[in-house]
Amino acid sequence: MIRIYSFLYFITLSFIVVGQEKVGTEIGLWTIKNGEIILNNNESDVIGIEYWSFITNTLPHEPIKQYITSFRLYTDGIQEDLGGMNSLNGNNSEWQIELDVKDTDLSSHDEKVILDYQHTLIHEFGHVLTLNASQIEPTDDQYQDNDKGYLTSEGYAKEDSYLGQYIKLFWKNDLLFEWDKIDAIKNERRKLKKLYTFYLIHEEEFVTDYATETPEEDIAEAWTFFVLDEISSPTTIKEQKITFFSQFPELIKYRNEIRENLKIIPANYLENYTSD
Ligand SMILES: [Zn+2]
Repeated sequence: MIRIYSFLYFITLSFIVVGQEKVGTEIGLWTIKNGEIILNNNESDVIGIEYWSFITNTLPHEPIKQYITSFRLYTDGIQEDLGGMNSLNGNNSEWQIELDVKDTDLSSHDEKVILDYQHTLIHEFGHVLTLNASQIEPTDDQYQDNDKGYLTSEGYAKEDSYLGQYIKLFWKNDLLFEWDKIDAIKNERRKLKKLYTFYLIHEEEFVTDYATETPEEDIAEAWTFFVLDEISSPTTIKEQKITFFSQFPELIKYRNEIRENLKIIPANYLENYTSD
């Protein structure tokens, strides 16, 4: 399960429940067919239509049509869990997108609120781009076989996938080894503390602290900055991570489409970004 948490949650959290299926109080759950919301014919449809329109008016239609088959609205209050993108089947051809309606407050005029929920939506879209059936080789392996590449919860990142190429460039053996040791820590609080120290040591390599959570989160965060920032000549590794996506024409196209639809296009997003 792939989720995005707020900064506050990330450093204070002591109770991530791995494999937990339902987060927060459910507001509505809809089937999506060919990019269209199938109504439940109850009162929650009004909010469902409002949020589904927001998603389809922001994100490129093609991948949404191809992969999203379920849409869930919930809330766990402001902050904490902001949204999610979950694979619904073994070959990663069907996905559920989830948003917390309190964090994605569509009625808000507060610039920070809007920037934050735009970030969440683009981040979640980044997961489906990098973990869908064309990118990931399903497996029953519980533990990574290094010969097969990097193991995500969805399967092995194919060698020529975005994530496969990204890891090869930016998660060279030592870094992955260092991160793996932290990831193996059972005590969640201790693990998050270590992960935050890991971030501080490698600050120049990660666009946000949250990006250190996993390589999957790292690529989703870098993708988000690729859409929201304009970096032409990268100098730091984190800037190189952002411009990594510009080698793929289809991703440039998606970026341009999303930017045309945004309520606010931020200036110097990376430079001005604060996650709290
Ligand atoms: Zn995520």
